Amino acid sequence: MSLSRRDFIKLSIASATAASIGLSLPKQAESKEIVDKWVKGTCRFCGTGCGVYVGVKDGKVVAIKGNPDAKTNFGFLCIKGFLAYKCMYHPDRLKYPMIRQKNGRFKKVSWDEALDYVVKKFKYYHKKYGKDSVAYYGSGQCTTEESYTFNKLWKGGFRSNMVEGNPRLCMASAVGGYITTFGSDEPVGSYADIESAKCIFLVGSNTSECHPIIFRRIMRHKMRNPEVKVIVCEPRKTNTAKIADLWLPVDPGTDLAIFHSMAREIIKNNWHDKKFIDEHTRITDGKNVYTFDKYVEFLEQFTPETVEKLSRCPAENIRKAAKWFATSGASMTLWTMGLNQRTRGVWANNLIHNLHLITGNICKPGADSFSLTGQPNACGGVRETGSLAHLLPGTKPVKNKKWRTHVEKVWGLKPGTIDPKPGFHTIKMFGALGGEKDPNKPIKAMLTSTTNPAQSLPNLNKYIKGMKDAFLVVLDIFPTKTTQLADVVLPAAFLYEKGGVFGCSERRSQLTEKAVNPPGEAKADIWIAAQIAKRMGFEKLIPWNMDDSMKANEMAWTDYITVTKDTDHSLWGATYDRLKKEKAGIQWPCPYPGHPGTYKRYVRGMDPMFEHEEFKKFFGKKIPKDAKIYFYMDKKGEGKANIWLRPYKGPAEVPDAEYPFYLTTGRVIAHWHTGTMTMRIPEIARSYPYAYVEIHPDDAKKYNIFEGDLVEIVSRRGKAILPARITKNSLPGILFVPWFDQEISRMINFVCNDAVDPGSKEPEFKIAAVKIRKHTGATKLTEKVIISDINSNYY
Ligand code: SF4
Repeated sequence: MSLSRRDFIKLSIASATAASIGLSLPKQAESKEIVDKWVKGTCRFCGTGCGVYVGVKDGKVVAIKGNPDAKTNFGFLCIKGFLAYKCMYHPDRLKYPMIRQKNGRFKKVSWDEALDYVVKKFKYYHKKYGKDSVAYYGSGQCTTEESYTFNKLWKGGFRSNMVEGNPRLCMASAVGGYITTFGSDEPVGSYADIESAKCIFLVGSNTSECHPIIFRRIMRHKMRNPEVKVIVCEPRKTNTAKIADLWLPVDPGTDLAIFHSMAREIIKNNWHDKKFIDEHTRITDGKNVYTFDKYVEFLEQFTPETVEKLSRCPAENIRKAAKWFATSGASMTLWTMGLNQRTRGVWANNLIHNLHLITGNICKPGADSFSLTGQPNACGGVRETGSLAHLLPGTKPVKNKKWRTHVEKVWGLKPGTIDPKPGFHTIKMFGALGGEKDPNKPIKAMLTSTTNPAQSLPNLNKYIKGMKDAFLVVLDIFPTKTTQLADVVLPAAFLYEKGGVFGCSERRSQLTEKAVNPPGEAKADIWIAAQIAKRMGFEKLIPWNMDDSMKANEMAWTDYITVTKDTDHSLWGATYDRLKKEKAGIQWPCPYPGHPGTYKRYVRGMDPMFEHEEFKKFFGKKIPKDAKIYFYMDKKGEGKANIWLRPYKGPAEVPDAEYPFYLTTGRVIAHWHTGTMTMRIPEIARSYPYAYVEIHPDDAKKYNIFEGDLVEIVSRRGKAILPARITKNSLPGILFVPWFDQEISRMINFVCNDAVDPGSKEPEFKIAAVKIRKHTGATKLTEKVIISDINSNYY
């Protein structure tokens, strides 16, 4: 199906603005293409988890339309979901395995040759440098079956916990926040709470552009119920902030003080829920338990006036936000990277949960503390399968002996096989990656799947050499900045060419059926993982090595739901057969066949784990018969959630005389991550051909910068040069740059900070101190840049 420029502009405008003003996306967004069949699936371009139907004609995908039965999107799609299939047939698709030769150029090889070579190298490094010298770096865009398989291969086969994934860069702080407050990862409630909420608090989330279909739900609810209040807290006056009833402008990283100040106002005005606090919470700093009076005393320092001076958020706005939040009757907070990608991301998450706990705005319809996940399968694929260096399936730590023993038993391994020591988190892992000549770099080889770290890591200058020097195997569908550094490139299948399960922000697992075959010799990642396992001698561990990807997926899924059967994340009732039939997927916990899935956790009558004897026995939960609410945090059988007494701490870097600006980065509505797919959708590439820097008019004037001028943005780590977009969207002193652009001089991640949160190890992408100057070199702008040549150089 071709889309004229006029149609595209109409649809993009509809997509962006319909979401902003709460209109339904136009039904013409559904393709009128005549197809041979429609195949059920999920969109792969954000964590909303929109259900789709993929239209197939003559063995090719020719259209996508929304699934009207999906509980996430009710048939509506944004422009990315609607046009996603277009990148599948781009001429740059990788179709054959390739090995880099001594002359630096890639040579097309057979699969056997490529896999034998990879395994020979892995075996060599294992023998010479030990089991942890070969790492896996995956993605929140892999299917659950793929993440599970690679995780099992590494932790159960190689006996190494050097397993990470890009969700460490986006969601780790949310995981830390949920676990330290409630005792279990992922939200209490569901998207359905949006339609019951009376106050919606959006924090660090440009929802209208990054989760357009969620924003559509919010605005539709607001339009039908004008009394519903929407509050937005973030540094930029985004399209999301423009429609809010109240905007809390804030200097990056200072919102912790705002949350404490709101808590102070709430308690001072007696808007808190004393009964809920007494019955269901404990006030702690992690070492000691405190009285409520002590908490009140702690909050005293955060007067709205003091916080205004620190954050630039007017005291009056803080007071109003506190009142609306506490007195609405049902308040829901939604957040994403603005809260997570910080050196105090876990604390920021804790303080949002605090607001819900002190007002009793949790465990009831319309009241929830809800993390919107960025990627389509960060939750289901990486968090739930435990595909991170410190976790095992079920989001349980590798350090937990009892759980390790359980996993070893189900996987048929000898006791003691799984290493109790966590591997390296992402930033440490890439810091430790290097060639054989570098004795300080213990990781000598890495396999990456469905991600592009050579563009997406922060402080890129620090990590490029390591990727280049190490033995790097890259699975992807297109040439990228990372394939430019690779030794072996393995062509992967697109989601609709292999099928599999994706989770989403609301604990919902949905199955995508395979619709068409991949091009050339491209293969599903799960097949590649299983072939490596076979050659490494782990065939028994990963027996799903057949060519039929849906059969392999089903075997992997069954294995996964078996090992996590009695956890609070149980999907035991969500068999593959059932997922195939379900039109809207299933929300965990779903602990037995026929269970409908769970809308809200920790509430008797809704959370099935209250009655699940094996879960309670294994994890020591003594849920009293009369407990209506019980959080999983508690070791003493009280079922209480933690209200955290966290001191104020600002970002790792704040502006100073030399670097006087804050830099913050993010997405735009049309593009996905590093643009490798969306830049290959012609309509999208035309509408957003390059990145830019948003700068306030006062700052532009001071630096004699005019619209379109090239601006150098320099941090202590690196530099980028981008055209100026002069706008009052940001506060003076704050710059914003989207990060999708592959043109090397516009890659803003060279500038970003790689300082990590001490708890979650998530880097502070969102905040860096920078200086700017008008660029005086060549001023011609290279518009659309796509890395098409597999033999091109990184620099
Ligand atoms: S909102 Fe997200 S999941 Fe839904 S269509 Fe858009 S990109 Fe896809």
